[in-house]
Amino acid sequence: MRAMSLRKAYVIGSGPNGLTAAIVLAREGVDVTVLEAQATLGGGSSSAALTLPGFLHDVCSAVHPMAAGSPALATFPLERHGLRWLHSPAAAAHPLDDGPAATLERSLEETAARLGDDGRLYRLALAPLARHWWKAAPDILAPPHVPRHPLLVARLGLLGGWPAAAAARFFFNSERGRALFAGLAGHSVLPLDALGSSAIGWVLAAAGHAVGWPIPEGGSRRISEALAAYLKTLGGQLELGREVRELGELDGADAILCDVTPAQLLRLAGPRLPESFAARLRAWRYGPGVFKLDWALDGPIPWKDAECARAATVHLGGSLDEMTASERAPWEGRASERPFVLLAQPSLFDPTRAPAGKHTAWAYCHVPHGSSLDRTGAIEAQVERFAPGFRGRILARHAMGPSTLQRRNANLVGGDITGGAMTVGQILRRPSFLYHRTPVRGLYLCSASTPPGGGVHGMCGWHAARAALADLRGN
Ligand SMILES: Cc1cc2nc3c(=O)[nH]c(=O)nc-3n(C[C@H](O)[C@H](O)[C@H](O)COP(=O)(O)OP(=O)(O)OC[C@H]3O[C@@H](n4cnc5c(N)ncnc54)[C@H](O)[C@@H]3O)c2cc1C
Repeated sequence: MRAMSLRKAYVIGSGPNGLTAAIVLAREGVDVTVLEAQATLGGGSSSAALTLPGFLHDVCSAVHPMAAGSPALATFPLERHGLRWLHSPAAAAHPLDDGPAATLERSLEETAARLGDDGRLYRLALAPLARHWWKAAPDILAPPHVPRHPLLVARLGLLGGWPAAAAARFFFNSERGRALFAGLAGHSVLPLDALGSSAIGWVLAAAGHAVGWPIPEGGSRRISEALAAYLKTLGGQLELGREVRELGELDGADAILCDVTPAQLLRLAGPRLPESFAARLRAWRYGPGVFKLDWALDGPIPWKDAECARAATVHLGGSLDEMTASERAPWEGRASERPFVLLAQPSLFDPTRAPAGKHTAWAYCHVPHGSSLDRTGAIEAQVERFAPGFRGRILARHAMGPSTLQRRNANLVGGDITGGAMTVGQILRRPSFLYHRTPVRGLYLCSASTPPGGGVHGMCGWHAARAALADLRGN
């Protein structure tokens, strides 16, 4: 790689972070090419006909609070390139065996009102972050730095440092409130009694009130297609079906930005990496995997509680205690009998996903890293528990465990969907204190393994590209 200039760059991988990095560079006049191993675009933001003709399924991401609330994506004209957000009336629902489902509403006030006596503290805790999302997000979705809005960051620090189970007990007296919060925090893929596991719960709740939990019309692939279309208007290029095996294939570039995880960077860069940095990458810890199901359905899911049909996302995990037990299991190498199931039902709000009168649903649960267990029965039993008659509506199903997911996208190591465990230690140095930089001049990491971590938001790519521009151009 040449030094002290940034005219030509390669981005390895076309996930949302790779595409965002490429756009940031192309906007600065850099000649950038994205190389994608798969024949299809978008990594974790893609859709395909996985079951029957006419049914469209999101292969990985389905619901997008972090994309809708991303300071990076907000600067791109993605609507002009076909992205249209659709909102369900409620962001998320959490049914219980007894009593009405808890819901995360678009409105903070409405959510608080539905939480009854718990509503006051919920509003008090969350209102500043929800109201000032667009001020807080650039500070929150970034590597550690001196924040522009320290009070908002301090608030999230105070709220988010708690283990989710403890936060749920402190902030909510009702079983409904506790379960709702546990479901939000369950997106962290951490045990709910782990330090820091509540942070993602607060962030997702604040984003829900600020920007909603929308789905893209036409599937998650619309996000990557819009990013790629915008990149092309900036002169950027994209090569699909081009797996990079060794950085030496990419001679002549001033910078290479890798939308890959540490284990892959080790293979790509090999002896170019100083041993101390390579050792840090080798020590990187991947988290549990996921087992995912997609269904083609003969009708909508027959929820016992009709409130669940108001939300594109439904959390099926029962009470806080049940969820605490089930989310610990994958960390101990076990499969929970009653796993926490994250379910999306996009066709209720987007008719383009299925033939008229038919529906799709998407669901996954956490499993031990690399597990080969088939969780179809356990996931469907959880849906059936809250929607009796669900199984009778299944026309076809498609299942993917960790190894299938990793075959489709090499970044899903052992089925880990967040590019590495989101533990406090790994959030603070993700994957090292260099964050997006490496000790090799011109070589950057831009995937979800860097801050701020997993999710479709492009912020990892945004920060990596800005680091490259600052280093090599002095911007
Ligand atoms: C089942 C599942 C459900 C999810 N649900 C959601 C959700 O609802 N909402 C949400 O926000 N997030 C969700 N996520 C997480 C989200 O998809 C990821 O966090 C996000 O896609 C990470 O983006 P990325 O650009 O870092 O990497 P990825 O999107 O994983 O993209 C990496 C790309 O790099 C390519 N690549 C890897 N190695 C090479 C190589 N050597 N040469 C060339 N190309 C290479 C891969 O093929 C891939 O296309 C989900 C993920 C999964 C798997």
